Amino acid sequence: MQFKDIIGQTETRQHLTDMLQQNRLSHALLFLGKEGNGSLNLARAFAQYVVCEKVNGMNKPTTGTSLFGEEPISNGQPFDKSDSCGQCSACMKAAKLVHPDIHFSFPIISIKKDRPTVSNDMITEWRKFILENPYGNSYDWLQAIEAENKQGNITSKECEEIIKKLMLKSFESKHKILIMWMPEYLGNEGNKLLKLIEEPPADTLMIFVAENEQQILPTILSRTQLVKVPMLFASAIAQQLVEDKLTDADNAQQIALMSEGNYREALRLLQHADDNWELLLRDWMNSIVRTGPAAQVKWVEDVAKIGREKQKQFLQYFNHVLSHAVRLKAMGDAAFDPSLAENETQSAISGFAGKINRLCHFDQLEALVREIDQATYHVERNANAKILFHALTIRIYYIISNKSVILVP
Ligand SMILES: [Zn+2]
Repeated sequence: MQFKDIIGQTETRQHLTDMLQQNRLSHALLFLGKEGNGSLNLARAFAQYVVCEKVNGMNKPTTGTSLFGEEPISNGQPFDKSDSCGQCSACMKAAKLVHPDIHFSFPIISIKKDRPTVSNDMITEWRKFILENPYGNSYDWLQAIEAENKQGNITSKECEEIIKKLMLKSFESKHKILIMWMPEYLGNEGNKLLKLIEEPPADTLMIFVAENEQQILPTILSRTQLVKVPMLFASAIAQQLVEDKLTDADNAQQIALMSEGNYREALRLLQHADDNWELLLRDWMNSIVRTGPAAQVKWVEDVAKIGREKQKQFLQYFNHVLSHAVRLKAMGDAAFDPSLAENETQSAISGFAGKINRLCHFDQLEALVREIDQATYHVERNANAKILFHALTIRIYYIISNKSVILVP
């Protein structure tokens, strides 16, 4: 995987290549960022960059020991060192996840009866999973290996294997690289790695790719150089969806806005792209504000039928509209002009947010967001949809009408 294959993250990759070129890179990095932002892909592309023969200038006699001080030449032209070449033998192997000096460690379940399972036991499944789902999360991975309810784990035995692998001489590249995905799954046995992190053998690079800072061993956290990987811009997500011909520009925009910088979520939402959340939301709000209880009961019955997954997505859409409303409010409602929106979808969301703003103060918007968050939580835990949405309708009515009481003495 090259940097150019990654969605967005241009600043982070620039930061990484700069640190490498300027020799400011620690031997142990922690890529920290939320699900669906492509941190693992960034780690893969960076590892490929480090082993790439052209970046290293291995196609030219070297004069010093500095790995990245050379100026490799390609067809008489200086090689652009902002990305790996994608063509040398090291790049080809890295792209297929079979480079002998790039090691992977990830959560697994126990499959061996006679000894503890290690990542290598599942490397074939892992390669297939990552190549097919570059933006997948640990839940997807554990599902893919049919872990069902078993907890994934990075075992003590795995830590011993890592130490062994990194102590060996490298095979083809100057560097030996470990990419550990989800160090959150390391229990206290992770402390076995501390010595390795503190005093690594020469030319070792360890990249820990994590999502949740709180779940990482503090001893590892304090010994690694933090690289924060931000969420993706909606524009980058939309552009990718269109480039991959997954949907049209308008729909891509709607999905990108709702996915909140998470490409995995964008792909998931895409599967339900035909659903018209805007219409459903309009009906609901009308039944609450205008048409009254009979329309509310009908709406609740309809929404109870669409199933948990879609209910969740609908609530997510509503939450997105609400956060948009909060932003508009912060800018002053005068800033609201649907005609300035970039496309129809954005205009619809802005239009709806504007209408909600005419009904609600800040506190009411906040109260609505809280209600929607709560409802999402309960939907995820299998609450009875009819009761849940009925109660939610009443609460929203209460929140919204509160303002009318204030406004109309
Ligand atoms: Zn290369």
